[in-house]
Amino acid sequence: MEALAESLGVPRYRGRQLAQWIFVKGVSDLDAMSDLPKDFRAALAAQTSIELPEVERRTPSQDGSQKLVLRYGDGARVQAVLMPDADRLTLCVSTQVGCGFGCAFCFTGTMGLERNLTAGEIVGQVLVARRTLEAGTRITHIVYMGMGEPLANYAATVTSLRILTDPKALGFSPRRITVSTVGLVSGIERLARENLKVNLAISLHATSNQIRNRIMPVNKGFAIEELLEACRGFPVAFRQRITFEYVLLDRVNDSAEDARRLVRLLKGIRAKVNLIPFNDWDGSGFQRPPLQRILAFQSLLLEEGIRTTIRWSKGEDIGAACGQLKEAVTV
Ligand code: SAH
Ligand code: SF4
Repeated sequence: MEALAESLGVPRYRGRQLAQWIFVKGVSDLDAMSDLPKDFRAALAAQTSIELPEVERRTPSQDGSQKLVLRYGDGARVQAVLMPDADRLTLCVSTQVGCGFGCAFCFTGTMGLERNLTAGEIVGQVLVARRTLEAGTRITHIVYMGMGEPLANYAATVTSLRILTDPKALGFSPRRITVSTVGLVSGIERLARENLKVNLAISLHATSNQIRNRIMPVNKGFAIEELLEACRGFPVAFRQRITFEYVLLDRVNDSAEDARRLVRLLKGIRAKVNLIPFNDWDGSGFQRPPLQRILAFQSLLLEEGIRTTIRWSKGEDIGAACGQLKEAVTV
């Protein structure tokens, strides 16, 4: 925005003021930006546009979470989910319309990839979600776990992370932001060099290449060993860990042997495991294991000293839980 200001013939600090209006104050109406010179505002109006996605639907869930169906100018729709939990309010953002990776258990995967979101469209989710909040509440954490694969839309993801963490823009601590990936090794290695200091989450979901190949086609390109090697090379901030997400699928990946293999795989990595009991959708062909098996899997990991939580997904009743996101594009 400093560069934009300069190109429109005003000093660079005018760009910082503009950024403050948009990102800090949440204002997108140029007329309201009272400390910007009239000529600058006129030039902005003529040559740029400030667009936010429209909140088409806002569906509250019984557990307090809220699904926002957002619609962009071209008709593309994504979802963002607000999830309150004790003193946290986490926003889950999307990075693509649909997803091209086709993980067998994921409803979003059945859509295929419609298109990438731009950095502005990703940040726009945060700006509009913030507007829906009651006075006195604010978003404390952001997870890139909505629709799409962040590292398959690499440049937009990284730019959006820079805007979210820039103290002159949204000012989120990178420690409160987590990027989840299906396991694109090249992307993880690149992200490691960005010095962003955000947290990394890996959708692992299996402990043998045979099973992972079957449920996550990406594994045929980047096998488990290679993926974990990239994780070992990822800079993990002080007191932080890499999260390994593991969707529990009945009699597919939930045996005691799987748990033991997982322990072995994670040796030497500052890891924590997040077990996600499978969220069902019509025609998925998978089932959630019975509670007892879920807890047994967790116990085996805990006994080996691996920090392990179970993510009882938020928003299941409104189709906003992990892997349940799907919105059609209509133009
Ligand atoms: N594409 C990225 C970001 C999406 S994160 C990734 O895959 O990591 C969404 C998380 O929910 C991923 O860990 C995904 O594997 C998981 N998930 C997908 N479908 C699910 C389902 N039906 N039940 C539970 N978790 C699911
Ligand atoms: Fe895409 Fe992630 Fe779903 Fe796999 S789990 S299909 S990568 S959104």
